[in-house]
Amino acid sequence: MSAKIIDGKLLSQKLNSHLKISIAQNKGVRAPKLTILQIGNNPASNKYIKNKLNSCKSVGIDAEVLKFDNNIKVNELEKTILSLNKDKNVDGILVQLPLPSHIDEKFINNLIDVTKDADGFNPQTLGNVLLDNTQIYPATPNGIVKLLESENINLVGSNVTIVGRSNIVGKPLATMLINREATVTICNKKTKNLAKVCKRADILISAAGSSKLITRKFVHKNMTVIDVGANFVNGIYCGDVDFEKVSKIVKYITPVPGGVGPMTIACLIENVYKLYKNYYHKNNSK
Ligand code: NAP
Repeated sequence: MSAKIIDGKLLSQKLNSHLKISIAQNKGVRAPKLTILQIGNNPASNKYIKNKLNSCKSVGIDAEVLKFDNNIKVNELEKTILSLNKDKNVDGILVQLPLPSHIDEKFINNLIDVTKDADGFNPQTLGNVLLDNTQIYPATPNGIVKLLESENINLVGSNVTIVGRSNIVGKPLATMLINREATVTICNKKTKNLAKVCKRADILISAAGSSKLITRKFVHKNMTVIDVGANFVNGIYCGDVDFEKVSKIVKYITPVPGGVGPMTIACLIENVYKLYKNYYHKNNSK
C-alpha cells in the first residue's frame, strides 16, 4: 500500500488565499512590509528569497531585499538592523541564512526587534514559544504543525521523534509538540541506534539535511513521516527520506518538493501580517 501524501503546496495555497483576504480587509494607509537582508550571493538563498518575494506579492505584502557584500563588517549589518527596527514603514525583518562565517547568527538574531521578528528566531520569541505565550512561531515548525493538523493526525499522547536539534527547526518544533501533549524524542548525530529510536515513533520528522538518511528500516506501516530536509544532490532537490521506498510502507508522508517548503513560506508571510497588525494598528489607531 502507498502512503497518503500530505500536500504542503495545496495547504499553503489555501492559507495564502485566506491571508490575502485578511490583508485586503484590514489594510491601513499602507500594506504590510517585509525587509529581507541578504549577505553574499548563495544560489540556494537566491532561490528561497525569490520564492518569498513572490509569495509576499501574491498576498499583498510589500517586500524588499537589501543586498550586502559577503565581506560586510558586522557593525555595518548591526547599524542597518537597528535602523530597520526604528523604521515605521517596516513590519518584518528577516536575515537570510546561512551567514558568512565571520558573522555570528545568534548575535544577529538577537538584534532584530522582537516586534519585527518575521522568522521567529529572536531569543525572546523562542522563549515565548517555550512558554506557549506568543502569536509568532518560527515558520518551519509552525508549518509542520499545520500540516499534521490539516490531516487530523493525533498529537496528544503520540510518540514523535525528531531527527535534528537545531535552534530553528528541531528545538522549537519539539517545544510546540510538547505544548500539544506529544511525547517527544530529539535525535542528533551521536544518537545510538537511530533507526531503532525512529521506528518507535508514531510521527517521524527528519530535519537533518542528509539525503536518504531515512530508509525502510526507520519506519512502520502506521507511521506519519514529515521530511524537512532540503538537499541538492547532483543538482536535484530532495529531502532526507528515501521517498520511493518509504512511501510504500508508511501511512502519511510529505514530499520534497511540495511538502514542508511551501508551508514554511506561508507561515513566514503570515508572521509578517501578524507583526503588521500588532505594530501598525497599535501605532495608527490613536
Ligand atoms: P542544522 O542546523 O544543520 O541541523 C541539523 C541537525 O540534524 C543537527 O542537530 C544534526 O546533529 C542532525 N543530524 C544531521 N545528520 C544526522 C544524522 N546522520 N543522524 C542524526 N542526526 C543528524 O540544520 P537545520 O537548519 O535544522 O536544517 C535541517 C534541514 O532542513 C536542512 O536540509 C535544511 O536545508 C532543511 N530546512 C528546510 C526548510 C524548509 O522550509 N523546507 C526550512 C529549514 C531547514 P548534530 O546536532 O549532532 O550536529
